[in-house]
Amino acid sequence: MVEEGSGLVSRTESLYRLQTLDLEIIEKTGRLQEVEASLGESEALREARRSLQAEEQRLAELQRRLRRQDLDLRSLTSKIATEEEKLYGGRIKNPKELAGIQEEVRYLKRNRSELEDAMLETMLEIEDVEAEVAARRERLQEIEAEWKQRQAGLREEEAALRARLARLEGERRALRASIDDQDLAIYKELRRKKGGRGVALLVGGLCQGCGVTLPTSKVQEVRRSQDLAFCSNCGRILHVGDAS
Ligand SMILES: [Zn+2]
Repeated sequence: MVEEGSGLVSRTESLYRLQTLDLEIIEKTGRLQEVEASLGESEALREARRSLQAEEQRLAELQRRLRRQDLDLRSLTSKIATEEEKLYGGRIKNPKELAGIQEEVRYLKRNRSELEDAMLETMLEIEDVEAEVAARRERLQEIEAEWKQRQAGLREEEAALRARLARLEGERRALRASIDDQDLAIYKELRRKKGGRGVALLVGGLCQGCGVTLPTSKVQEVRRSQDLAFCSNCGRILHVGDAS
């Protein structure tokens, strides 16, 4: 009697342990997928880098503009000197020609004055953009630091999950070998129908799968039965827990 009884206990015990392993394997696999999806560069990091690059590009364009303006200024200054040399050099005597040169000098000086204003504007703009580049660089460094820290944590978690899953799979294989094929088929079918939980503990007459208290006669039947017994309410395989 005792041996036969313990035979059933070990059948449902094995199925219950299998279910516990399966549930943890599902949970850990899900978490592993989340962790793997979070590894690698984050969108926030890419965005901060793009934003800095865009501003650095703007700064480079402004600096190129300033260099061009500076070259133009040198060229204008040199032209003005040449024209003034003609004007005051004394070699040109023709008043009409001198008036023409004077007009040209006025025109060149007006251009130079406008160019100097434009250069000042460029320099002010460069100052603003330099400040913005510095702010964006600082922001990127902050995000990078956070990201690196988080990545380290995720890599640790990934390694722990992989190790745990390997242990669980090993335990499951060993346990699977001790389970009857027919029992396993019933378990799998119920697991599919009952949201991953095809086996329920029966504790003090209460089915832990659905929360219904079974009649005493049913509880006694379950305890005595040599075959798998099922909850009359939810249909799960009943495993008599230690406390009952
Ligand atoms: Zn039930």
